[in-house]
Amino acid sequence: MSVTQHDVIIIGAGVAGLTAGAVLAEKGCNVALVAKGEPTACLSTGCIDICSLDHEPLHGIGHLPEEHPYHLVARAVIREAVDRFGKITDEMGLPYVGSLETNRRILAALGTFKNTCLVPSTMAAAPQDEKDDLHIITFSGLKDFYPSYIIARRGNASFSTYEAGADTTMGLAANFERHDFLEKFILWLEKIKIPENKIAFPAVLGLESAARIAQKIESSVGKKIFEIPTIPPSMPGRRLFNVLKDYFRKKGGVIYWSWPVSGVEKAKNIVEAVITPSDGRPQSLNAKAFILASGSFVGGGLHARRDTIVENIFNLPVFVPGKRDDWFDSDYFALNHGIGKAGIIADSSFRPKEAPWENVFVCGGILAHTEVLKNGCGHGLALATGHAAAASCLEYIK
Ligand SMILES: Cc1cc2nc3c(=O)[nH]c(=O)nc-3n(C[C@H](O)[C@H](O)[C@H](O)COP(=O)(O)OP(=O)(O)OC[C@H]3O[C@@H](n4cnc5c(N)ncnc54)[C@H](O)[C@@H]3O)c2cc1C
Repeated sequence: MSVTQHDVIIIGAGVAGLTAGAVLAEKGCNVALVAKGEPTACLSTGCIDICSLDHEPLHGIGHLPEEHPYHLVARAVIREAVDRFGKITDEMGLPYVGSLETNRRILAALGTFKNTCLVPSTMAAAPQDEKDDLHIITFSGLKDFYPSYIIARRGNASFSTYEAGADTTMGLAANFERHDFLEKFILWLEKIKIPENKIAFPAVLGLESAARIAQKIESSVGKKIFEIPTIPPSMPGRRLFNVLKDYFRKKGGVIYWSWPVSGVEKAKNIVEAVITPSDGRPQSLNAKAFILASGSFVGGGLHARRDTIVENIFNLPVFVPGKRDDWFDSDYFALNHGIGKAGIIADSSFRPKEAPWENVFVCGGILAHTEVLKNGCGHGLALATGHAAAASCLEYIK
């Protein structure tokens, strides 16, 4: 078996794991992140929901049930995590706008509004009410975007279609990164003489240069433009994942990609290593401490069995919300399916409760009682708890 030693190993490359990793790497730790695959951020709008229940996110957090993991994080730490996120995304060329003081709206793919807190600058001009006149640009053959749904909901919108030579979000985004494609597209856009005051695009304006590309289009046509996130897979979610990943690496973090962790080596109340069967042979990744950021069911951190829910790496106790019949609401689209409460209960140091391990910390979507959909708190909670778990882990290894 091959053996590698780090100060800290983080399991999971989502917003929680990458946030924790960056905090530790910035403090000079030798930190590695091991992930079996892409995080749920790649399916998301890329917007940071902090708490969408109230106009003021922090006020909304104050009204969450007392068992909600947000209450383990001091308000000052939530602010610090959000400020840090803003600095990182600015530095990495993916600026976000918004503040913890107030939520804002973005236009979603079906023409409804979504409440969120921080949005990529390419969505900053999204209408906040029904008043703005919109012209929507779509692309021939693009399946993940439905201008007709948006127009049906808003009287004051129309659309045009561009033949871009690609019909997937990824293919279109790659085209927009090309100078010749962008120039030709802008010429076409100028010619169609749009009367409406804002222009909406599906979120395909580039892979890593979206902010710059959007600015160039805006200054050429002299109108406010904004992106509308498509249904998954989502380019803004992928851009978010890419900048957090690149920043972690820039700070010296190591990523073991496509390495699923299958178990641990332990001695008394200490975990000594995680085991991953990669590259055809078992690898033992040793560290002084471990942070579990493997997400909920979609991310792969939790698994539902017939009558229970399990966490497979450390075999941690999982809070199971009643019997299987209580896990789901009869309304498929309900936001409060009981299963949204499942997860690991952490103590104030972000160690899993009722587990023997003194060097294991947990953060993000795998925590119990998050109810991410109902509370609109996905990436925000991942940022805040990733930050707080890293601080606790740092104190331990020192
Ligand atoms: C469809 C969808 C859309 C969403 N949209 C939004 C949105 O617009 N805004 C918002 O704020 N929130 C949104 N959310 C919620 C948000 O994505 C999550 O709450 C949050 O990102 C969780 O982050 P995480 O880091 O805890 O876990 P995840 O993002 O789930 O990442 C888990 C990581 O752990 C890895 N992993 C799991 N098991 C193992 C293993 N055994 N070995 C190694 N690695 C492992 C996975 O491969 C992955 O890299 C959305 C969620 C979904 C499902």
